[in-house]
Amino acid sequence: MLKKNLLLLAVMLACVQLVPAQSKLARSGDSAATGQNQTIAFIHVNVIPMTGASRVLLNQTVIVRDGVIAEIGATDKTKVPKDATRVDGRGKFLMPGLVDMHTHLFSDDEFPDELAGDELTLMLANGVTTIRLMIGTPEHLILRKRVADGELLAPTIYAASPQLSGRSTGDGFNGRVVTTPEEARRAVLDFKAAGYDFIKLTNFITLPVYDAVIAAAKEAGIRVIGHVDTQVGVRRALEAGQQIEHLDAYLESVLKDDSPIKTSVSDIGLFRKENWESLDHIDERKVKEIAQATARAGVYSTPTLTFFKITFGTGASDEEIRQRPDYRFVPTKLRERWNKVSKRLRDTQATEARRREYVRVRNLLVKEIHAAGGKIMTGSDTPEWFLLYGFTLHREIKSLVEAGLTPYAALEAATRNPAEFLGAPAGTVEKGKRADLILLHANPLDDVANAEKRVGVMTRGRWLLESQLQKMLDEIAPRFQKALDKEN
Ligand SMILES: [Zn+2]
Repeated sequence: MLKKNLLLLAVMLACVQLVPAQSKLARSGDSAATGQNQTIAFIHVNVIPMTGASRVLLNQTVIVRDGVIAEIGATDKTKVPKDATRVDGRGKFLMPGLVDMHTHLFSDDEFPDELAGDELTLMLANGVTTIRLMIGTPEHLILRKRVADGELLAPTIYAASPQLSGRSTGDGFNGRVVTTPEEARRAVLDFKAAGYDFIKLTNFITLPVYDAVIAAAKEAGIRVIGHVDTQVGVRRALEAGQQIEHLDAYLESVLKDDSPIKTSVSDIGLFRKENWESLDHIDERKVKEIAQATARAGVYSTPTLTFFKITFGTGASDEEIRQRPDYRFVPTKLRERWNKVSKRLRDTQATEARRREYVRVRNLLVKEIHAAGGKIMTGSDTPEWFLLYGFTLHREIKSLVEAGLTPYAALEAATRNPAEFLGAPAGTVEKGKRADLILLHANPLDDVANAEKRVGVMTRGRWLLESQLQKMLDEIAPRFQKALDKEN
């Protein structure tokens, strides 16, 4: 046993010397992309600046230097530097890269850490140039730095802390159990000191623990994000200024006063069948009220509509799942496991009428929050039940349109709003912003499905053509399928 391990270690050390660390990605990045300090000019391009109105600037030249948008102007008035690589933008549309505010990685759990690079490539290939990893691990902090240093060709990373929860979920629980105010305070200070960008809450959080988290985070200068336990309630979360995921605790807050059932189907409430009855007792006026309260509180919302809609609302047939472009990246071992989960869900699900009502009310909440002036952000909550990364971010943009947002508002939720929340110099096409861009064959303001008709993607000033991205995907797909095989 020991001998075998030593041999393995020797082999690993040899590999380190022969092949520079993370050579695969660094190399594909260098050969496929133009280096970070080169100059690139998009010429005759239609720019969608996303600066506050649904408009297109026609026939522009956009110059990118050192990873930043250095210049934008009418093509006939903007000088292109001699050394610039020119990209013909005639008839094309340039918009900001997309942001996924809620994602995880297979490699957070039992999957090998090496898979992380491939996972990030999958996001990038879908036009996602910034992500927020929602249940942090020390590995995320390393990835964040390597991307920031230009060492790893991937979306820019924000890392939430390991989860704070009132209970451990057993194997693979990646977080800290906090059941007293003192434990909560300690966890906040520790995770702040470790360098995480946000404090992430999940479930089973009591009110005293919640209050301690909010107070400690305020003192430490770090923001609190994530789930809202029904013990805390959405009103308290709004008052605390917590950034809310999944519309947690909203459904419980919009029940009629005379509803015979007071619990509902937010978050883990979904798994109690009797809670679905609450959907017969929705008070539409309360939907409007809570939406207005959300906007007044200035709390940003990541509704993750798609994941909840498909998983608990509309469902998906096996055939549909197999047809999805994500399917070839689902590890074989996980296919079996997720199939079992799907079957169990289908068996315990509520009536179709209630599931439809569930989708309708969640959509209505999003529409009303937006109408009241609240800020919506896109999040995929991938990888979950056959839904993977970037593909699902595009589904989420479409889900927002389905909920009643205009294409501009839906794209704003995927670009400008999250950048604003993160304080990131991105999310719009403006001089001085980070060059996170996607070039499209058609106008996404006409139809958000056009946001997938890519000519190429630029991340931090590195330009990747769609053909190069697709080639990278073809290379990584087999690695995903076999990802767990060698472990067993
Ligand atoms: Zn999540």
